This record gives sequence, C-alpha cells and structure tokens, in this order.
Amino acid sequence: MDNKKNLLIIRRLQRETFQGRKDLRIGVWKTRKVISDDWDATYEHYINTTNCEDCDIELVSGNKCNNRKCLDHCHTTGKVRAVICHTCNLRRGREDAIERITGHPYNPLQRF
Ligand SMILES: [Zn+2]
Repeated sequence: MDNKKNLLIIRRLQRETFQGRKDLRIGVWKTRKVISDDWDATYEHYINTTNCEDCDIELVSGNKCNNRKCLDHCHTTGKVRAVICHTCNLRRGREDAIERITGHPYNPLQRF
C-alpha cells in the first residue's frame, strides 16, 4: 500500500473521534496561515457558534452551501476575526482586497 492510501486511512480514522476532527480542523487552519493565541478556545468558539457573526444566518458544516461555517481571519496578520458564513467570508475577502489596494478601510458609502 502506498503512502497516499495510508494517509487517507489515517484521516478517516481521525475523523471518527472528537480529538481527531479537532486536530484535522486546526491543521487546515494552520496550513492557511491562521494564527491563534489559544487554539482550544478558537476551536470551541468555532464549534459552538451556530449563527453567522455578521448576518446571523444559521450556519451548517461540511457542505458546499453558501451558509457553511467559515473561520474568518485577517490575511495580513493571520489573526482570527470571527465565525461567519461563506457568503460573508467572500464579502470580507473583497473588502480586505479593496483596503490593501486603496490603503483605506472599505467604506460602502465611498465612491471610487
Ligand atoms: Zn453571514
């Protein structure tokens, strides 16, 4: 059996336990350069958040819906900001890009 198949088996076994799912999730965040002072608290907050902290829509996990749960983080500092839905995460990403380009925080009332 090759290493790729072994890795898939290990990941499947990890997903069967709370600690395994937690380790996998935090591992994904770290590969995306998310920074947290307290991974346990970040994970607890992520797991216990039921509604988007921006638009209040009910969050779902593990699918491709627009209201799937996302851990929003600043792409400049890496710091965790909020648990939000996919739609709000995309909007925040666009606002961050505007801020990086213009040098000013995004203001929806400002004309370009
Ligand atoms: Zn939202």
